[in-house]
Amino acid sequence: MKTAIFSTKYYEREYMDKANAATGHELTYFEIPLNIDTAVNATGFEAICIQLGDRIDKATITQLSAAGVRLIALRSAGFDNVDIEAAAQHNITVVRVPAYSPQAIAEHAVALILTLDRKTHKAYNRVRENNFSLHGLLGFNLFGKTVGVVGTGKIGRAFCSIMLGFGCRVIAYDIKESEEMKNKGIVYESLDYLLQNSDIISIHCPLNAGSRHLFDAGAFSRMKAGAMLINTSRGALLNTTDAIEALKKKQLGYLGMDVYEGEESLFFKDLSESVVQDDTIERLMSFNNVLITPHQAFFTIEALEQIAKITIGNFTAFENSEPLPNEVLL
Ligand code: NAD
Repeated sequence: MKTAIFSTKYYEREYMDKANAATGHELTYFEIPLNIDTAVNATGFEAICIQLGDRIDKATITQLSAAGVRLIALRSAGFDNVDIEAAAQHNITVVRVPAYSPQAIAEHAVALILTLDRKTHKAYNRVRENNFSLHGLLGFNLFGKTVGVVGTGKIGRAFCSIMLGFGCRVIAYDIKESEEMKNKGIVYESLDYLLQNSDIISIHCPLNAGSRHLFDAGAFSRMKAGAMLINTSRGALLNTTDAIEALKKKQLGYLGMDVYEGEESLFFKDLSESVVQDDTIERLMSFNNVLITPHQAFFTIEALEQIAKITIGNFTAFENSEPLPNEVLL
């Protein structure tokens, strides 16, 4: 199948070509993102393959449909950047990679927790300058702490298992409770209870109308003073301006984020020679108890292999009119 792959990153091609070796789809790689301005490049392709940074709104869908596109394949789990309703109206099928390596994201959330807690990033830099002082490096034991998990889907469940291994008390909030997690000893509570009782909160629910800015001034005020919040899910799950106020008041004790509302103009780019225009992220970076990583939680060898394998499988299933288990339905 003739497929245009947009927003191709330097690290992706090797994995896609390897996964495609036995199948032989005709893949054309574009580094540019797909949006209304670049949609003309999709002309002549039956399928397009995109990333989260691509903006597939109603107008772009109309243009893609006119260009002959019949399949939109996301190389991600999230699909909040695609107007699914508009795609359905134009009879364009949308598929995604629902799970490629939940452990990759769960383990990164743990990396953020441990770094913020034990301050290994500070020690690394300090020791290299022959400063062996312990000043400012005091941490706390994870053992025995209460960890609140918002969203116990694939990633949340992997995260819960790791935190149980640390000897934490793990409580969770989800609109749909998991029997598997209950059997493992996870106790489901209301969001309010979770906010009030957790020493560490990790967000693993998707961004949707019900979860946008779930963590706002009201939520921060109900959290334990000095608690840690980790967001590896989607930036807009928290209101960043409110988070900054909570950090200034020391209500929020630590903030670890792999995602940021407005990350599209920053993440995956080297802006070290530029003047960053986003004052909010600059303010966030001024706090020594904030740790930001550039949406790298998924970035493991195992995850890249799985993303490529499942994406190629999605192309093949669509081309052969086979059932599409990874279809995004309205
Ligand atoms: P999933 O669909 O398996 O699980 C999501 C869970 O959230 C479900 O149990 C669902 O019931 C629950 N949920 C939905 N709305 C909720 C709400 N308002 N409040 C509480 N719970 C709610 O998804 P997943 O594979 O575990 O992924 C979770 C999220 O992680 C994705 O939506 C995506 O945003 C994010 N993600 C981030 C990265 C990264 O690299 N940082 C990579 C992949 C996924």
